[in-house]
Amino acid sequence: MMRLRGVFLGSTVGRRFLALFLLAASLPVALLTWLSSGAVSSTVAAANDSARRGEAHAAALLTLERLRHVQVNLATLTESRASGVVADMPPSASGLRAFAPVGLRGEPTVVIDAVDGRALRDLLATRTPVVGRDALWVVPLRATREAALVVAHRSAETGTLWVGQIDTEWLWRDMDAQPSGMWVCAYSGRDIALYCSGPAGPQEAARVLHDNPAEPAAAGTVSVKSLFLGGDFAADDWQFVVGQPTDAGLEGAWPPAHALVPAAAAALLLAALLSMWQIRRSLIPLGRLADAARGVAARRHGTRIQGALPDEFGVVGRAFDDMAAQVERQFDELAALAAIDRAVVADVDVDRALGLVLGRLARVLPGRAVWVARLTAVAPAHLRGASVGAGGVGKFDVPLGAQAITEIAAAADGLPAGPLLRAVLQPLGAASAALLPVTWRGKVCGLIALTGTLGDVESEALREVLELRDRIAAALAAAEREEHLVHKATHDILTGLPNRAGLQAAIEQTLANGDEDGDVRLAILFIDIDRFKSVNDNHGHAFGDSVLQLAAKRVRACLPAHAVLARPAGDEFVVVLRQGGDDAAAVADRVCAAMAAPFGVGPALLFLGASIGIALALEHGDTAEALLRAADIAMYQSKRRGGSCFTLFDGQLGTESRRRSWIERDLRGAAERGELHLVYQPRVDAHDGRVRSAEALLRWNHPTRGPCPPGQFIPIAEESDLIETLGLWVVDAACAQVSAWRAAGVPPLRVAINVSARQLRSDRLERHLAATMRRLAIEPASLEVEITESVLVDNLDLAIAMLGRLRALGITVALDDFGTGYSSLASLRRLPIDVMKIDRAFVIDLALDSSAQSVARTIVALAGALNKRIVAEGVETPAQARWLRELGCDELQGFLYSRPVDPDALVAFVASAERHDNLLHA
Ligand code: C2E
Ligand code: CA
Ligand code: CA
Repeated sequence: MMRLRGVFLGSTVGRRFLALFLLAASLPVALLTWLSSGAVSSTVAAANDSARRGEAHAAALLTLERLRHVQVNLATLTESRASGVVADMPPSASGLRAFAPVGLRGEPTVVIDAVDGRALRDLLATRTPVVGRDALWVVPLRATREAALVVAHRSAETGTLWVGQIDTEWLWRDMDAQPSGMWVCAYSGRDIALYCSGPAGPQEAARVLHDNPAEPAAAGTVSVKSLFLGGDFAADDWQFVVGQPTDAGLEGAWPPAHALVPAAAAALLLAALLSMWQIRRSLIPLGRLADAARGVAARRHGTRIQGALPDEFGVVGRAFDDMAAQVERQFDELAALAAIDRAVVADVDVDRALGLVLGRLARVLPGRAVWVARLTAVAPAHLRGASVGAGGVGKFDVPLGAQAITEIAAAADGLPAGPLLRAVLQPLGAASAALLPVTWRGKVCGLIALTGTLGDVESEALREVLELRDRIAAALAAAEREEHLVHKATHDILTGLPNRAGLQAAIEQTLANGDEDGDVRLAILFIDIDRFKSVNDNHGHAFGDSVLQLAAKRVRACLPAHAVLARPAGDEFVVVLRQGGDDAAAVADRVCAAMAAPFGVGPALLFLGASIGIALALEHGDTAEALLRAADIAMYQSKRRGGSCFTLFDGQLGTESRRRSWIERDLRGAAERGELHLVYQPRVDAHDGRVRSAEALLRWNHPTRGPCPPGQFIPIAEESDLIETLGLWVVDAACAQVSAWRAAGVPPLRVAINVSARQLRSDRLERHLAATMRRLAIEPASLEVEITESVLVDNLDLAIAMLGRLRALGITVALDDFGTGYSSLASLRRLPIDVMKIDRAFVIDLALDSSAQSVARTIVALAGALNKRIVAEGVETPAQARWLRELGCDELQGFLYSRPVDPDALVAFVASAERHDNLLHA
């Protein structure tokens, strides 16, 4: 996070700039300093060197001048003495401290300072001056370390040798007036110091003369000049050494060398300060730009650069503010569009979507009134309007008539304000309005309107208006799609009636909307078409569909206008009536009558009818589900009553349905749990009283509820595939019994097994019978199957085929409950059956009723005509037995002889029948 208040060195850029500035400033300064200091010192060294040489030269020349002066003066004095002329000359002017002729013994006639006679004699012995050639001697003084300078001259006239001592003070006068700390030393040869002007001289000079004797002139800060004295005097060369301190000469240079480093430091400091100032000047606007950018990114509304920025930053800042305004607008637009999309996609809430669009439009077009409307073919439309002005947000609604909608739908973009808008515009004081029809797939489905003209709308706003128009189109399309889907989901395609979901919704809605007192008047009619299954089976589904459409029309025609007719499934219709029980009964009566009339589809004429159950709201249930269940139960009751009637639900029917549900639940797995067993009821031969066959009857002993009669559980099992499992179990148990009896040596008995119609639909039963007989090596003559006559109603051809296959196995086939099933003589003749069992209903009244006797006689005669064996069941009295025997029945079965009993009891019964032969006359 860049914080610039004060310390900017926290910023990387700041640090980098500063480092660069300092580097840029310090490199040239350092280089210049280095270069100039080298130049200065070499220049100074060169100047010093030449100054020293000059000084040394000057010192040597001056000294030679003065020695010559002394030489001349001595010669003059000597000649004048020789000639007797005494030139009175002060010693100081002559440069001599003293002079005197040298005596014969070789010593001066006057004492010359510290030069004693002996030393002079030694000198004279080594180098005797001749005429025209003077000598110059350096005589070490015994008392001091200094040396005396002695000149010797031989007079040309007298030949006398004169010596003089040079006044050294005079000789070296002014020699110490050297510039800038220079010193000068004079040496005779290399060892004898004659003079030094400075304290540092002797040491330095000695070092130079001795360390570098070959080239003394080149040594560092010291210059050496040799003075050749061999010409004027017979003497060694003198050396003039001029020196100066190491830093000598620099103090005079400008800039002075010692000032260079502080100057460089000052330059650097200045560079640092200037760069810091400039960096701060740049980074503070940058920081503000960054803060503002963060504000925009965090979507803080109204984020702008606060105050003007300097320089080009000002330009950037203004550009940034423009961009921020633009971005804000786009953020708003996107947020609004997203909200609209959510309303469209997630909730399919057209009203909300339109409201959002309206709000956004009003915001985008401030100062104008805007409207949106949905136009549908069916519902009346209305314009919803809003305006954002100085007075806040205004809202209004304008209904649109059919005329206006047609006008709009026919119009193109930019339609001028028609009469329909005058009513809206006038109160607003607007003279004109622009209309933007909203189209989807070429159809006008909505409308946007705004006061003023489209041409006045600023281009960015216009773009958004058009974008919003597309959103409305999408919203309306989505709504239409949704409505279509809802209709599809709640309606049945075949009849266009509400389906189960639509029915549910209709009932719930009626339940929710009671009348003013909160009373709900609601009756449910559950209508099931009788014998519809056989229509589908015999004529195909397309035919069945036509019948259903016809039935729907007939039912509808019986209903009051407010009633809802639904088709929740297959051949079921449900009527939702906002009426009470009596009205519902009247309606049901009309429906029954209408449905009983024959249905003519193509050339076919069908007699169907309808079973109806009625349930009343609150009395029989307070939810859609409960009411439908109650009406369904009542409908089943009508079915049981033979159809073509209606039943009002009552609590009794509820118990019935509860029983159904536990039977359905508990019967599954009853075989595995060992709750099933077979009992056998003997059939007695009508002529000799013997028992040759017995009917196997299924028993279910419920673990908690006790024995459950087959009349209760078999019909329920027959409604599902449960009956097939049960049927196979019966085959197994019966065959096992036959096999056991044979093993026990019981005389062979034919066992008759009851088979349900549903079991004939597949070849499963046939294959199972064949396999079991093979497995247990059972004679086919030991088995008989009983099939109820009603099976023939459903699908005769299939039944004929299946029964034929059973018969082909050698199994006897019997038609059970004969006389109850309305089979035609033609179909009876085609049936592959061996035995006909006359239903108990015909046996019961035999002894009492003469009409029953004639019916029984006809049935027996019919069976006889078809050449079948005839068995009568339900024989309870000897009178019935007598009648049946006289009618020509072959076998008799009933409580008169035996109830269904367990296998051992049956065997006992068979044995007693053999023994007594008395059953015929019992
Ligand atoms: P059903 O095939 O007509 O069986 C004869 C029924 O009449 C038996 O009732 C039997 O007990 C009864 N019955 C026999 N003689 C007399 C009599 O003299 N008087 C009276 N009042 N009744 C007599 P149950 O055993 O209750 O069987 C009822 C029905 O259950 C049977 O009628 C049959 O349709 C069905 N059923 C029984 N066992 C099976 C089975 O294993 N499979 C199938 N699919 N159905 C079975
Ligand atoms: Ca039977
Ligand atoms: Ca029967």
